[in-house]
Amino acid sequence: MSQHDLTVPLSSEFILPTNADVHASNHDKPNDPCTYLCGNSLGPISKVSERLVQEELHAWRTRAVEGHFDHPFGRPWTKITDPVHTLMAEVVGAKEQEVACMGTLTANLHLMMTSFYNPTSERYKILCEAKAFPSDQYAFASQVMSHGYDPKDAVIEVSPREGEYALREEDILEIIAKEGPSIAVVLFSGVQYYTGQWFPMESITRKAKEQGCICGWDLAHAVGNVPISLHDWDVDFAVWCTYKYLNSGPGGIAGLFMHEKWNDKQLIKQAGWWGHHLSTRFAMPPTFEPIRGAQGFQQSNPSALTVAALLGSLQVYKAAGMMGPLRERSLKLTAALEKLLHQSKYYVPLRDVKEKYPAGNSGPPGFTIITPEDPNSRGAQLSLLFLPTGSEVMRQVFKSLNGNGVIGDKREPDVIRLAPAPLYSTIKQCEDAAYYMEKAFAEIV
Ligand SMILES: *Cc1c(COP(=O)(O)O)cnc(C)c1O
Repeated sequence: MSQHDLTVPLSSEFILPTNADVHASNHDKPNDPCTYLCGNSLGPISKVSERLVQEELHAWRTRAVEGHFDHPFGRPWTKITDPVHTLMAEVVGAKEQEVACMGTLTANLHLMMTSFYNPTSERYKILCEAKAFPSDQYAFASQVMSHGYDPKDAVIEVSPREGEYALREEDILEIIAKEGPSIAVVLFSGVQYYTGQWFPMESITRKAKEQGCICGWDLAHAVGNVPISLHDWDVDFAVWCTYKYLNSGPGGIAGLFMHEKWNDKQLIKQAGWWGHHLSTRFAMPPTFEPIRGAQGFQQSNPSALTVAALLGSLQVYKAAGMMGPLRERSLKLTAALEKLLHQSKYYVPLRDVKEKYPAGNSGPPGFTIITPEDPNSRGAQLSLLFLPTGSEVMRQVFKSLNGNGVIGDKREPDVIRLAPAPLYSTIKQCEDAAYYMEKAFAEIV
C-alpha cells in the first residue's frame, strides 16, 4: 500500500476497538472500528504483537526455564532484546550499541540523571520547558533535591510568551546562552505532550553543547512520530517509552540512548546483572563488567511478554518503511485534519482569541488550535483548546465525541488532543472527527 493513499490504512496489521467496544452508544455502526485518534497516548495492538506475545506464552508453557537458552521460536530470553535493539536504533537514529531496550521511561530518566547530572556549585541547574509532563517535573525536582538543591532555584523552566502556547526557538536558545554556565543539564521533551510542539532538537542540542552543558531528551511523544538522529545531533542521552506511537502495549518496555562518545568515560552506574557481559553473566562473577555502550545500563532480565509485543510493533513499523514514508503520510493526515477543523463554524484562529474572548472565561462555545501551524514544529498531534476557557465546553464536546466513537484524549482544564497516526489512521477518521466535533458543538449552543 502507498503512503499517499489516505483512504486506506497504511498497515492492515492493526486492530482498532469497535464503536461498541468503546461504548459509542450514538454510533449507528457498532461493529465498525472506532475513530481512534489517541495513538499519542496508547497505540493500538497489531496482529504481529498479538501473535508474538502468544508465542512467548507458548514458550513459557512448553519450555519454562529452558526458554532462556532454548526457545521454540528462536528468541531465547537471554537474547530477546537483540532484534529490538537493531530496530530501535534505526527509529532514533543511533548505533545499535547506543540503545538499550529496558525498564520504563521515568525509571530510565532517573538512571540517566544519576549518570549525567553531576552538579557543582557553579553548574547545577536543569533547564526544561515549562509545564513538562508531570513525571519529568517530579523527576527533575527529586534529582536536584537529592543533591541538596532547591528546585525553585535549580530547575529553570522556559515559558511561552504572554498569550502564546508554543516556545520560540530564539527564546530557548537565548536562555541557554544566558544561563549556560550555571546549567548542568538541558532536558526538553522532543515533542511536547500538551501542545504537540516539536522542539528544534538539533539546534537546542548544539547550543547546549556550546555552553558545556549535558543535553538529554525525553522522546516519549517524539519516538515513532518524527524523524530523529540522536547520534548525528550529538545528543548525550535520551529516554523514551514505546506504548505511544510505537504501539508496544500498556506499560510496554522502554528505551534509552547514550552517545558512544561516553563509552570510555567513568560514569556512575546503578549496575545490575543484565548489564554485565552475556558471556560471563551466568557464571555469576562477583565483579560487574558492563557491556560496552548503552546496554551496560540494563539492570534486570526484561519481561519477555513486553519485549515480544514491542518487537512485533517494530516489525510492523519496519515493514511500512520506517520514518521516511510514515512522516510523509503523517504530514498529510495532520494537515488534512487541521484543514477540516479550520472549516468549522466554531473555530477561532489563535491570533483572534484575545479579541473574541476579551474576558477570557466567557463568550460563545468555540475552539482554537494551540499546536504550531508550521509542520516542521509538530508531529502527528493537534491540541485543541476549547473556549471560553475554564467552562464546561471541553468536557461536553469530549463526551459527545466519545458517544460517537471518536477517541482522543482530554487534558484538563480545556484541551483535547487528536493525533492521526500514519500507520493506521485514514482521511475518513479525520473527517469523522471533524464531523462529530461540529455535531457536538451544535448540541451545546
Ligand atoms: C507518557 C510520558 C511519560 C510517562 O512515563 P512512564 O514512566 O512511561 O509512565 C513521561 N514523560 C513524558 C514526557 C510522557 O509523555
